[in-house]
Amino acid sequence: MGIKVFFSCLLCRILRGVARLLHRGGTAMPGKYALKLYPELLAYLARDVHTVAITGTNGKTTTSRMVEEAFKDAGRDYFTNRSGANLISGITTEFVLNSTLTGKPKKKYAVIECDEAAARTVFGQMKPEVVLVTNLFRDQLDRYGEVTHTLDNIRAGLQKTPDTVLCLNADCSLTSSLALDLPNRAVFYGLNKGVIKNATAPSVSDATHCIRCKTEYEYDYSTYAHLGGFRCPKCGYKRRDPEIAVTEILATTAEGSRIRLMIDGTDYETNINLPAVYNIYNAAAATAACMEMGIDNEVVLQALASFNCGFGRMEKFDLGARGTRMMLVKNPAGCSQTVAFLSDIEEEFTLAVCLNDRSADGTDISWIWDAEFEKLAAINERIRHVYVAGTRAADMQLRIKYAGIPVEKVTMETDYEKLIDLIEKEEVPVFIMPTYTAMLDLREHIIRRCGGTEFWE
Ligand SMILES: [Zn+2]
Repeated sequence: MGIKVFFSCLLCRILRGVARLLHRGGTAMPGKYALKLYPELLAYLARDVHTVAITGTNGKTTTSRMVEEAFKDAGRDYFTNRSGANLISGITTEFVLNSTLTGKPKKKYAVIECDEAAARTVFGQMKPEVVLVTNLFRDQLDRYGEVTHTLDNIRAGLQKTPDTVLCLNADCSLTSSLALDLPNRAVFYGLNKGVIKNATAPSVSDATHCIRCKTEYEYDYSTYAHLGGFRCPKCGYKRRDPEIAVTEILATTAEGSRIRLMIDGTDYETNINLPAVYNIYNAAAATAACMEMGIDNEVVLQALASFNCGFGRMEKFDLGARGTRMMLVKNPAGCSQTVAFLSDIEEEFTLAVCLNDRSADGTDISWIWDAEFEKLAAINERIRHVYVAGTRAADMQLRIKYAGIPVEKVTMETDYEKLIDLIEKEEVPVFIMPTYTAMLDLREHIIRRCGGTEFWE
C-alpha cells in the first residue's frame, strides 16, 4: 500500500509540474494517471480529511465558494478544487497536492465541488462528512441523459457512505427524494410559502410527476421551475419542513438580497451579496452545509454578506459606464431564472447573449426554446439593446425575435473585440449571458481590456 501511494502521488506531482511548465492549466490529467497506478488513491488520501462535497445541477460553484468563504472566515485549515476539476481525476489531483508523498493530509478540511455524474465513484472513495445537493434539473441532455439517471448516480455514490450527512433542497422533489431510501441523516433547506411574492405555476417541468408513484404532484406554491411546496396526492410523498428556511425576502436589488432566515428555530436577518432568487437558495444551502460542518451561524451569515463570487457567476467587470455583469447560463431552468432576475431590475439595461455549441456547452442548443425568453418582451421598455454573439449567434437572434423583442433592438456581433467596444460605450448597466465556453472566451477578452482576477492563480 505505502509504496503504491508514494509512487502514484509522485507521478501525479511530476505530471502536474510538467503541465504547469507547458502552461496547461488542467488538473485532471495528473490525477487520471495516478488513479491508473493506484485506483484507491482518492480513498486513501481522503480518509483523514473532513470533507464537504457539493453537487447538483445548478449553483454548485457559487455554493462551494460560499462555503469556502465561511471556512476562511472561521479560520479553518482547508483546501478546495475549482469547477474545471470536479471529476474524480481533478479531485484526486487536488488531494495529492494537499498531501505529503506518503499520503498524510496537509490540511484538515476540504471543500469539494463534485460533478453529478462523478458522484457515483467519488462519494464512495471520498466518504465526505457532508454532501450538499443543490437541485436537479434537466441539463445538457447529450451529456447526462435523463435527470433521474443523474439522481441514480448520486444515490449510488451515497449508498457507499452511510455516515455522510445529507443537506438537501426541500423544495426540489428529485433532490429531497434521496432521503427516502438512504439511511443517511438528512438536513433540509428551502424557501417557505409566501416568500416569492408574484409566484406563478411551476413552469419548466423537469419533475411534474411523483418520483415514487408517477402521480402528478400538487403544489401549494412554487418558487421557480419545479421547486416549491410539492405534494403527491396518492402516496403522500411531499416537501419536508426545512431546518434552514428562508421565511421572507425583505429587499432585492441588482447587488444582492436581504432575507429572513430561520436556522433550527432561531430567526436571523441577513444580507446576501449576490442578487437573484437562485442565489438565495445557494445561500440557504451553504448555511446548511456549514452548520453541519460545525461552523457558527453568525460566521456563515457574515460570509454570505461579504461574499464575492466571480468567474462568470454574477461576476462584475469595470466595463461600460455602469459596469458589466456576467451570468453563466447552461440549461433552460437556469436561463429562465436569469431572465426572471432581469425582469425584476427596475432600470434600463443592455443585454448580450452569447451562445456556443461546443461539447462543454452541450452541442444540442434546442434548450434555448425551453428557456423563458418571452419574459423579456414584458419588460421591453427597459431593455436598451440586445447583442447576440457566439458560434450560434444566428439561432439566438431568432430566439430573441420569437420572444417578442423588436428586431431593431437586436444586433448580431460575433467578433468579441467589437462586441466589447460596443459594451464599453453603453451608459446603462450591461448583463452578459454566456454559455460555458463563450464565457471562457469572452472573459479572457474582457480581462485583457479592463482587468479582473485570473482563473488559474
Ligand atoms: Zn406519489
